[in-house]
Amino acid sequence: MRLILPPGLAEELRILYEEMEQAYDAVAQQLGHGCDGCPDNCCDSYFLHHTYIEWAYLWQGLAALPEDRRQTLLSRAEAYERKAQELIGLGQRPKLMCPLNEEGRCSLYAHRLMVCRTHGVPATMTRPDGRQLRFPGCFRCQELVESKGGAEDELPLMERTQLLKRLVVLEQKLVVGKRHMAPKVKRTIASMLSSGPPELPHCSDRTPKC
Ligand code: SF4
Ligand code: SF4
Repeated sequence: MRLILPPGLAEELRILYEEMEQAYDAVAQQLGHGCDGCPDNCCDSYFLHHTYIEWAYLWQGLAALPEDRRQTLLSRAEAYERKAQELIGLGQRPKLMCPLNEEGRCSLYAHRLMVCRTHGVPATMTRPDGRQLRFPGCFRCQELVESKGGAEDELPLMERTQLLKRLVVLEQKLVVGKRHMAPKVKRTIASMLSSGPPELPHCSDRTPKC
């Protein structure tokens, strides 16, 4: 079954994404951090993503593009995947520009994934087992923090825990009754694009939870 997002769920995800952006901007502004003029571009970092709902929302953005644009991006995604698998086969971690990044800009900016919206500023997150994780931010943000020389406990942090929990709730709403049958998602953006929109298994008489 091809996953088409119900409009209400897509709207809930849009609002959550907006709040992620606001939380990120609040910390970035306090630090005076921004990407303008950065010699690096994080869109070549190798990240895996884990939710059907983000995959489906990415495709919702792609589906709204004109056919020729969509085909261009899909071709780029296929080329990325081929190269990434080749590098992984050689034991290397791929460092390849995301197929959606064109001349430094994200082609599906409003549909980019959570990782794209949270990477950069210092952040914290509490895992379900209670362990607290701290993320120092990107190299440029770390340099900025160091140059300011403030105390570590005064550092503004993006709190990711609640945002991530809300994403998990939306994911559960989408795959309700099928989680036990659905393979885990562990994909690059390129793989999410080149594999087509996500699919969930059909329910059958032998799957009474559906
Ligand atoms: S998040 Fe940091 S490393 Fe990435 S582009 Fe922005 S400033 Fe550069
Ligand atoms: S989806 Fe957009 S923001 Fe995220 S890595 Fe790709 S180009 Fe960059």
